Amino acid sequence: MNGSGKTAGIVGTGRSGAAAARMLAHCGYTVTGFDSLESAHATRHMSQTVFGDFSSDDLSGISLLVLSPGVPLTAPIVKQAEKLSIPVIGEVELALRNTSSAVLAVTGSNGKTTTVMWLSHTINMSAADAEAVAAGNMGYAFCDAVLDNPACPVFVLELSSYQLETIHSLKASSAVVLNLTPDHLARHGTMQNYGRAKARVFQNQGADDTAVLNYDDPLLDRYRNISNARQMYFSLEREVPLGAWMDSDGMLLYRDESGTREVMHSRELALRGRHNTANALAVICMGASSGISVEKLVPGLTDFPGVPHRIEPLGTAAGLVWFNDSKSTNVDSLKVALESFDEKVILIAGGKQKNSDYSVLNELLTHKVKAVVLFGSGAQSLAGQWHGSVPVSIVNNLDQAVESVLSQAKNNDIVLLSPGCASFDQYSNFEERGEHFRRIVQALK
Ligand code: ADP
Repeated sequence: MNGSGKTAGIVGTGRSGAAAARMLAHCGYTVTGFDSLESAHATRHMSQTVFGDFSSDDLSGISLLVLSPGVPLTAPIVKQAEKLSIPVIGEVELALRNTSSAVLAVTGSNGKTTTVMWLSHTINMSAADAEAVAAGNMGYAFCDAVLDNPACPVFVLELSSYQLETIHSLKASSAVVLNLTPDHLARHGTMQNYGRAKARVFQNQGADDTAVLNYDDPLLDRYRNISNARQMYFSLEREVPLGAWMDSDGMLLYRDESGTREVMHSRELALRGRHNTANALAVICMGASSGISVEKLVPGLTDFPGVPHRIEPLGTAAGLVWFNDSKSTNVDSLKVALESFDEKVILIAGGKQKNSDYSVLNELLTHKVKAVVLFGSGAQSLAGQWHGSVPVSIVNNLDQAVESVLSQAKNNDIVLLSPGCASFDQYSNFEERGEHFRRIVQALK
């Protein structure tokens, strides 16, 4: 892209906006930053900013508007730009227009970051000269990734449905929709719109590309064969026509046009839980369809440190085995975490409660949990909903929660922080909560 002599606007001056500004400046544009927050901050590559309300005069002279993923297409500034015939694109689209590297694209409601990190790790372990870079929604803006790694042969890109709404020139050599749950409906309106946004990950794919779908998710059936791409599936339940599945003995298999091969046993996977086995099957489909032999995928599948705050093993301390699942911010994540353990755990949960029915977990709690320690603003309510299913203690904060665990645990017990609630009552985000937990556990070592 050549932006010399032109001005571009970026909307949202957070991490993605800063990366977009950097890319636009790199292309020669003069950059104006827009943010509806009066308190927003300019970044290095913005020569002027409009914070708070904007007027249509502020858009005069702007030849391209780049949106951060948090900005909906219904935002007034987008409507105004459309009226003035100013092209509007997303930050990921801007990056795509400035790279010719291959892209492996991952979307879905849950498991995106894990799959992206696991896939890039697995590719990098498959050969000494392999070089894949993970980018996108997982925290490394794609514009930054493209500028930092100009010679990178393949980007593994995590895409949220918000990001997919503003992408036009994606042509992923392999793309996957991991699953679809009724999440983010506030923005997309209906499940169908949400699904349609996710299916944009397959846009522009041709016969040389691969489209991967979860065979076990009935909500994805309608997206089978929506492009000309080779269709692959993954399944925890049954054999698939092409792709990867787990058989009844727990063996993982992969089938392409040349036949079926055993990859490895699921018990050897680096991450625990059926949800992670599903993520591993997606990694197998994406890795193998990119031309890596299945034997070469095994090292990365067996040896992966995991992603911080997602059932992350913290090791042994004070004779107990600790896991940090601070990313668990809703009932579904807590359920997935509990199902990942064969043994009974001591659970630390709580925080800012979501408006959901936590009593759906009662049976699982009885089977999987020895005792629960609840903290944070939602503690009383959760205790009420879980009454009778499991012994509960209530404390104020995470430090006290760990003290309570230590007072009741026996040697070798497993302790799982999986809050099932947002962190905002006591922390700025789930990462900060998880880091705090990590520090507390570290101090016990
Ligand atoms: P995302 O990036 O889509 O938010 P993550 O990889 O960060 O997903 O995982 C977030 C949480 O989603 C995990 O802690 C786990 O509870 C759940 N999860 C991960 N993978 C899956 C999956 N394949 N199916 C269902 N839930 C999953």
